[in-house]
Amino acid sequence: MARILIVEDTPGNMLLTSIVLESEGHTLFCADRALPGIEIAQQEALDLILMDVQLPELDGTAAVAILKGDPRTCAVPVVALTAYAMKGDRERLLASGFDGYIEKPINYVDFLAEVQRITGGTSMPLPE
Ligand code: MN
Repeated sequence: MARILIVEDTPGNMLLTSIVLESEGHTLFCADRALPGIEIAQQEALDLILMDVQLPELDGTAAVAILKGDPRTCAVPVVALTAYAMKGDRERLLASGFDGYIEKPINYVDFLAEVQRITGGTSMPLPE
């Protein structure tokens, strides 16, 4: 099971994402803004961050730049949660530092497969 931070400002999306991940037994941390999410990431050992792209105040793209520039958080995979479906968006998000990309509304099976792909093996300590 993984320790996952969800940063999402839309309550319905947060609820759905949380229910799906909790049903799989993951430990969840939740924030509705980027800055409190970054604070959680700096304090908790996380396996994955799911980051909404469109957020008030600081958006997801700015937040991933902060996370990837901080030695405390740079190793944690950050996956974009976005309603963007325009051609080129995936490449643009990956170029801005995201490790993956999940389109909303989430498809239950595809979403869990992507979470499993990214967190699989990360719960094992790395060999010295
Ligand atoms: Mn949003």
